[in-house]
Amino acid sequence: MVLPSEPEFEQVLKEITTTLQPFLKRNPEYQRALDVVQIPERVIQFRVTWEDDKGKVQVNRGYRVQFNSAIGPYKGGLRLHPSVNLSILKFLGFEQIFKNALTGLNMGGGKGGSDFDPKGKSDNEIRKFCYAFMGELSRHIGQDTDVPAGDIGVGGREVAYLFGAYKKIRNEWSGILTGKGGDFGGSYIRPEATGYGLIYYVAKMLETQKELASFKGARVLVSGSGNVAQYAALKLIELGAIVLSLSDSTGALIARNEHEGFTTRDIEQIAEIKLKHQSLTSFNIQANANESRFVWHAGARPWTLVQNVDIALPCATQNEVSGEEATALIASGTKLVAEGSNMGCTLEAIEVFEVGRRTGKGIWYAPGKASNCGGVAVSGLEMAQNSARLKWTPEEVDNKLKNIMETAYANSYEVGKQYSSENLGEGALPSLVVGANIAGFVKVADAMRAQGDWW
Ligand code: NDP
Repeated sequence: MVLPSEPEFEQVLKEITTTLQPFLKRNPEYQRALDVVQIPERVIQFRVTWEDDKGKVQVNRGYRVQFNSAIGPYKGGLRLHPSVNLSILKFLGFEQIFKNALTGLNMGGGKGGSDFDPKGKSDNEIRKFCYAFMGELSRHIGQDTDVPAGDIGVGGREVAYLFGAYKKIRNEWSGILTGKGGDFGGSYIRPEATGYGLIYYVAKMLETQKELASFKGARVLVSGSGNVAQYAALKLIELGAIVLSLSDSTGALIARNEHEGFTTRDIEQIAEIKLKHQSLTSFNIQANANESRFVWHAGARPWTLVQNVDIALPCATQNEVSGEEATALIASGTKLVAEGSNMGCTLEAIEVFEVGRRTGKGIWYAPGKASNCGGVAVSGLEMAQNSARLKWTPEEVDNKLKNIMETAYANSYEVGKQYSSENLGEGALPSLVVGANIAGFVKVADAMRAQGDWW
């Protein structure tokens, strides 16, 4: 059920519906489940008024989409960005349902946020906004009902303010948000989880595809420079890959020398700059002060700016790879594309990659709901630790994350093989987008049928 004013939701619904076709052809009764699952169980919209540093009242829109609770409490991040609206949150919440199913943990799907823009706000204003936002949200969430986390514009600082507000309002210490500080219930490896998990997923793709021997020396384009991009880049550098790009909403920064990409120290400096909501241009000025290591492309995305590429990882936001950019990536030799961001690729870009896969162009695409599920997976592990009032070591969490990513990969690969390998030649790769969508959907649809949501 799509309203005309929901382009992002319509896009994700089209992607899922199209990729489910081979399964629905064999199991037509599941069409009913698809009709039911696409309507959120509940949508909450509210007003958030808060006081800025000049003492003036400010007002924003707040939302929580509680999409599906068949396999666990609603779970999904909060986004603070001026572009936030119901279409974007419904698309994110819908994706989240199937992503969470792929982790194998008991988590339903939800998403929320506000059109509040954290850029240019003082710490005091961010705190005041978070308290005002939680003033209403606290009525609708709970550790067994709905457990939000971070997303764009919501990192450790914002989660801590939101957690503090909830605790005061409800007089209750509970694992109500994930991504908390380590001293008050946060899990080790949660900040790293989405970026690291993405690389663990790509490692499995590398093993299967065999065109690239390993990450060592692989030339990688990463977009974004926030949480997901930073930790993906750090893990890539640790594994010997060359990170040739990062970007933000003001432009793309490309390493001048294709043998020497970003260093760990560069990423640490970028993390400091991003915490202050500054542009990558601040880092560029700093880094190029002594030697000219980077080239800045104002307003650009990285995909067409480098000639020899092995792997491309969109890690900024939705629809950040167009059909033309996908074609350019194939022309520059890219073999693997995996989304760190949600719906990083447009439908046109996915089509270009999928046609490339089927026709032996050596390109293989992984959708975010599989390749970026590491973040919510460790959120699930944080919930488990909070319920048990204990804390696992970083090694324990990292190993569990690796296992979850390997299982998510195996599921999307095996189901993809079952439903997308017709008419493919020997050795051709299955569609991970078909596999991930069908595997996630069937798990949720079966739980819904068992609970009487459709029949
Ligand atoms: P952050 O806010 O930490 O970083 C977002 C990055 O994307 C920033 O570099 C930002 O630039 C850039 N960006 C945002 N909007 C745009 C735009 N319209 N055009 C170009 N660049 C843009 O967010 P995260 O790293 O947490 O999230 C990135 C993506 O990963 C999102 O799609 C999110 O939904 C997804 N994701 C995040 C998870 C997590 O655990 N954090 C889990 C799973 C998915 P600037 O700094 O200039 O604003």
